Amino acid sequence: MRERRATFELERVGLLARRMSLLAVFFVVSVGLSAIVHRVLYPERVAAILPIFGVQILISLAAVAMARVERLRARLVATTAVVALLLIWLADLYLVRVGSPLEELAFTVVGLLAGASVALPWTWCAQLVVAAGALLGLAVSAPLLTTTMNPISLGVSVVALAVLTVVATFDVDRYRYQAFAQALVQRGEAEIAAALMRVGETLHAHLRDPRMLEEVNRLATEMLACDWSGTYLWDHEEAVFVLRALWAPFGRADRHALGEVTFAADDLPLLQRLRSERIFEIQDGAHQDLVAPELIRYFGIASALYTPIMQEERMSGVLVHGYGERTGPFSRRQHRLALGIAQAMAVAVENARLFQEVQAASSLKSEFVATMSHELRTPLNIICGYADLLQEGTFSALTEQQLDTVARISRSAGLLLELVNTTLDVGRLEAGHTPIDRTPVRVEGVLEVVAEEVRALAAPELAVTWSAPADLVVVTDRDKLKTIVKNLVANAVKFTPAGRVHAEALWDDELLTVRVEDTGIGIPEDEQVAIFEMFRQVDGSSTRRFAGVGLGLHIARRLTEVLGGQVRIESTVGVGSTFTVSIPCPRAMPEERLRA
Ligand code: ADP
Repeated sequence: MRERRATFELERVGLLARRMSLLAVFFVVSVGLSAIVHRVLYPERVAAILPIFGVQILISLAAVAMARVERLRARLVATTAVVALLLIWLADLYLVRVGSPLEELAFTVVGLLAGASVALPWTWCAQLVVAAGALLGLAVSAPLLTTTMNPISLGVSVVALAVLTVVATFDVDRYRYQAFAQALVQRGEAEIAAALMRVGETLHAHLRDPRMLEEVNRLATEMLACDWSGTYLWDHEEAVFVLRALWAPFGRADRHALGEVTFAADDLPLLQRLRSERIFEIQDGAHQDLVAPELIRYFGIASALYTPIMQEERMSGVLVHGYGERTGPFSRRQHRLALGIAQAMAVAVENARLFQEVQAASSLKSEFVATMSHELRTPLNIICGYADLLQEGTFSALTEQQLDTVARISRSAGLLLELVNTTLDVGRLEAGHTPIDRTPVRVEGVLEVVAEEVRALAAPELAVTWSAPADLVVVTDRDKLKTIVKNLVANAVKFTPAGRVHAEALWDDELLTVRVEDTGIGIPEDEQVAIFEMFRQVDGSSTRRFAGVGLGLHIARRLTEVLGGQVRIESTVGVGSTFTVSIPCPRAMPEERLRA
């Protein structure tokens, strides 16, 4: 409050200095013009009034000069009042000298007082002093002047109007102060909101960063303009608060303290206070009994502001900001900021916890899928093996019907085995266990093998063709490239009941491009992003026409990304689809081509 008043007074002095200079210049110009008019119209008066005009001009110029002197600024209101009073008295003298009627003098005095109350942002006290002085001047001059009015009623009117100017000055000053205070509050609020937004952004940007807390403490130090800031977080296992982050420029940061300084919930009486009050300040570290003196000495705490990090009704941490040497209370703005930071921190700590939980759940799921797939592989291999033996007649010759049944068992077990293997591949990919083995690869050979492997899946009405430069040998991971192409071609064959599937490869500017084109059922535009996710299919219903589990495209895209490339899709429902894979890789050297 006192601070606000002081800022207002400072602003008032600045404005007053500007206005006083402006009015003084205006006065000099008016007096100059008046002198010229007198010279032309009343040359007989010139000798009498010139000294008065001269003094008025000198006082005005002195006022302009004084407004610029920094040292006089503290007394600017009083100086302005003295200047105004002198000018009014000189105006009185002028009117007496030229023998003006009393009404003219009264009119001039009231006019000058009214003008001053509006134009000069001084106080009602200054206005009162000047008004009283002006009335005194009028009273002294009155006996020397003539009037056609009743002097008493003229006097009463002039006094009433002078009092009115004092009241008006009081009101204008009060409204000016209220507007100033409101603007100050609004500016403060806007600054607080902007600062807290920065905290929110920092928390969001550093959510997965171990330095998130320290970053917020750094910002808090800056925003609260204090010396240091620290974060204690609750450790469930040890049941203590642990110092997790500390920001202290000026060499105060004691990094060894991180993770080491701890206290149990009941150790600090301060925590009880925080639970009920949500913010608490220690104004003088040396004279308090809420925090252990060792802790105060260890960190050199002169004064500190504590806020709890609350998760619903549970205290999951404590934020503390403070000074190394300054004692005394914290401002309202510091309280607001500290509370806002604690709230933002509570949300971020909760988000980070949820994020960790989700990550843990996801890796648990991946582990489960990997183990299950692995365990399923052995019995499936056994089923496939025995089915083969049965088909070969190892135990005894089978009838036609039995052979057909065993063939079905073998086909289904084979499909299941492929699915299990694919799931395992995805698991490895998700876990990032996919080393890249770059060797020279003849691209046409890869296309031939793939076409051969998928031929059995193709409908009789479907033409499967491929093309690639015969001498195109690139250095890349053969198995990964083959899996990518095979998944795309297998899909094209699967989703094209009749028509054409064409796969082509070309190399340009260090980029291998494989394009798989089909005239199949196509993919709706709104599905073209989702189909690359795990287990996503355009038609996921149980009555779907096409087999598959929705992993092929996911694997193709992940493997392409592992090789540093990308997959693009263009498709129109009922017309067909084109998948284009681009993988950066060099062409093999001539001697390497021979090895491919
Ligand atoms: P799956 O083929 O096992 O279902 P994919 O991940 O390979 O799984 O493909 C996901 C889905 O994308 C498919 O179910 C299908 O709906 C759609 N799709 C993929 N390739 C094509 C294609 N060439 N033509 C039409 N639809 C396709």
